[in-house]
Amino acid sequence: MLAPRSRRWSFGRLAETLQRDKLGNTPLLLAYVSLNGVVAVELIRRGGLLPTKNLAGVGVLDSFPPDLPPEAAEQRTAIRRKLLELTDREPEWLDGPHCQICNTKFTLQIRKHHCRHCGRVACSKCAPKDRKLPLPKFKLDKPERLCELCYDALSPVNAAS
Ligand SMILES: [Zn+2]
Ligand SMILES: [Zn+2]
Repeated sequence: MLAPRSRRWSFGRLAETLQRDKLGNTPLLLAYVSLNGVVAVELIRRGGLLPTKNLAGVGVLDSFPPDLPPEAAEQRTAIRRKLLELTDREPEWLDGPHCQICNTKFTLQIRKHHCRHCGRVACSKCAPKDRKLPLPKFKLDKPERLCELCYDALSPVNAAS
């Protein structure tokens, strides 16, 4: 199912793999955590992938550490929103036994959904049915299911700010 998409991703994936440091941090993740929005934006334009995680399982789309000062959290939120807005590549769908947002384990009752914008696998609480937007940048003109982060970044109400 992913095969037709893999070719257009190969450059981004290769670059991300080559440039990781010993802890698995990508340049994009490092720019983001050091609040360097200018560099982070440039890296997204060059094919940086938002869902990529370091060896500790931390990525740009993950929740903030509990001890992060509120000011830094605010700046991260602003940078992340910008990066999500700028993302122009349709994601490869991620998979796993747990919701990648709240960590709930999937079962027969708790079904998997995918955010069509960031590709993360999520439960129905984290990618609710009523959080749908069309994604014209991916040529998806019908409303598609989104996670809360992507919905917030892309919904017209918030886009103006
Ligand atoms: Zn969830
Ligand atoms: Zn998303």
